[in-house]
Amino acid sequence: MFKKILIANRGEIACRVIKTCRKMGIKTVAVYSDADRNAMHVEMADEVVHIGESPTSKSYLLIDRIVKACKQTKAEAVHPGYGFLSENKEFQKALAKEKIVFIGPDAHAIEAMGDKIESKKLAQKAKVSTVPGFLGVIKDVAHAKKIAKDVGYPVMMKASAGGGGKGMRIARNEGEVQEGFERSQSEAKSSFGDDRMFIEKYIEQPRHIEIQLIADRHGNTLYLNERECSIQRRHQKVIEEAPSPFLDAKTRKAMGEQAVALAKAVKYVSAGTVEFIVDTKRNFYFLEMNTRLQVEHPVTELITGLDLVELMIRVAYGEKLPIKQKDVKINGWALESRVYAEDPYRNFLPSTGRLVRYIPPEENKNVRVDTGVQQGGEISVFYDPMIAKLCSWGKDRKEATLHMRAALDSYYIRGVSHNIPFLASVLGKKKFEDGDLSTNFIAEEYPEGFSDKDLPAKDPTVLVAVAAIVHNAYVRRSAGISGQIPGHGRKVPDHWVVASYGAGGKHSEHPVWVSPERKALGENIVSATVKVGKKTVHVNSAWAMGAPLFSAEVNGKWVTIQVDKRPVGYRLFHAGAQMDVGVYTVREAELARLMPHKPPPDMSKYLLSPMPGLLVSLAVKEGQEVKAGETLAIVEAMKMENVLKAERDATVKKIYEPAGASLAVDQMIIEFG
Ligand code: ADP
Repeated sequence: MFKKILIANRGEIACRVIKTCRKMGIKTVAVYSDADRNAMHVEMADEVVHIGESPTSKSYLLIDRIVKACKQTKAEAVHPGYGFLSENKEFQKALAKEKIVFIGPDAHAIEAMGDKIESKKLAQKAKVSTVPGFLGVIKDVAHAKKIAKDVGYPVMMKASAGGGGKGMRIARNEGEVQEGFERSQSEAKSSFGDDRMFIEKYIEQPRHIEIQLIADRHGNTLYLNERECSIQRRHQKVIEEAPSPFLDAKTRKAMGEQAVALAKAVKYVSAGTVEFIVDTKRNFYFLEMNTRLQVEHPVTELITGLDLVELMIRVAYGEKLPIKQKDVKINGWALESRVYAEDPYRNFLPSTGRLVRYIPPEENKNVRVDTGVQQGGEISVFYDPMIAKLCSWGKDRKEATLHMRAALDSYYIRGVSHNIPFLASVLGKKKFEDGDLSTNFIAEEYPEGFSDKDLPAKDPTVLVAVAAIVHNAYVRRSAGISGQIPGHGRKVPDHWVVASYGAGGKHSEHPVWVSPERKALGENIVSATVKVGKKTVHVNSAWAMGAPLFSAEVNGKWVTIQVDKRPVGYRLFHAGAQMDVGVYTVREAELARLMPHKPPPDMSKYLLSPMPGLLVSLAVKEGQEVKAGETLAIVEAMKMENVLKAERDATVKKIYEPAGASLAVDQMIIEFG
């Protein structure tokens, strides 16, 4: 076996590859950029090589630096992970020249599958079902209109070199071809340096279902069942699962066999994925083949019991696959949620910064966390804002969903915004529970974007009870200090009033009686019976004072609630929702009612920076009148330019920041008159 492998990647996938290498007794080399000096993959590897500055173009994408790092450390093979150089044939050539093994498919297969038009032609030849359409290159709008008419509306216009959902547009009529074709073409040109476009039928209510393959150099190609990745935001996967709730055994076998046929047609070795779209009648059509390990591979591992990275390493070394098709089974159900540093309440703007506190859920047979960050680490502007891939496993879909919900509840992240409220909301949607999915799921379920309203309204009783218990415990502790004059100690009341605050400061009050029963259960267990109004809640918890997670058995059910102590009161998080509360004695509550409420300042007259970033340019001057929709400024963050537009007609009264300024989140840029 290889003695040493270099991982030409960073973040969670680099850490994931290192884990398997350790298991196999293979030494590892990590490469890193300036920004990743203290990253987790650097800490985990046996050897490390610094390869350049923070931008990927000056480090992780530099072929010669990585080849040099291999030579310097005598690494015999390279695992490319996904993204970066994983599908770059120049990289492969450079490695081959130095006789370093690339852990992945051969260059010819990557090349054949790298182009959408060419791969579709290959698929047709291998008798793989493809989306009906025109496979020539379309020259201009007039040509596009003719083809679209022949194919029949609606159609999908796609860039042949496309990826990541770029250069792709639906057209439902000639007008939309007119409008969208050239835009897609120029997007393709600027993103991929290649403006070849083609047109295919748009499949309505499609599901995205993909087949995982693994092949060795001895002619064995297996399909490791499917993953369904229909929950997508702007063509980017959000929640994936295996198996698909939609496939039957017959369709699974047909898709698997076609995927194998395609792989064999290009003499594919290593792990690869054939993506299909599936219509409502279970007709399936080839989309593309990804010639690398995919982000969502863990769900396949969880239901098959296989380690895909290990298999990739073994076949790269020349070994035969240790299993046959008949050995590939489906055991239970697995889900993956992509946890991102982005703010779902602000249209998913990326959020950078330090993970001030970070406690991932505990891993066990039902929960797997693939991450590349740790407490104190940074989500930097230079890379993908992924925090982790959170996976759950259960004996069926329902159980896997319950484990995922619980894991999300206990995922504690502070310092950056994250999308856990959104993920929790998706899991709670009826259509998700029913497995009634399509790639339009998010657009249809969140037509106005995501907001608090998308979180199912919950009875606040449990949260109110927990707030009262926590507060009661803190007050008891401060009342219990030693050296008090007998008979003069502070009395801790059993009766409290919990005021929960909603948007705009509106609040409701809940009278609560707490009776702690600590004797039976020992000092470490917070056990209490709480009466919230007329309801009674029994709570047993091993919560330690100060701990951010309150896990407890509440009326016989296990729940986890995140509790942040604030200068006044507490902030509780559960099932994606957040609630601010104050816990008062009866007298305090009377007085609190008299306190005037300070409304939050009206910021609608200002343009605020929606994220930390760089103010690239200002499109307006003081005194200028602007119309709704006009561009005001451009802010760059997370490798993306974000155009800030006027929400309504207004006059620019004052400009606070010049172009070139670094902005914090919510920093004022412009004031309107
Ligand atoms: P990319 O390489 O940019 O990711 P894909 O061809 O893989 O592009 O398509 C991405 C997503 O776009 C698919 O998962 C599917 O949701 C949607 N899509 C692509 N082609 C079609 C089509 N012909 N009809 C309907 N949806 C499509």
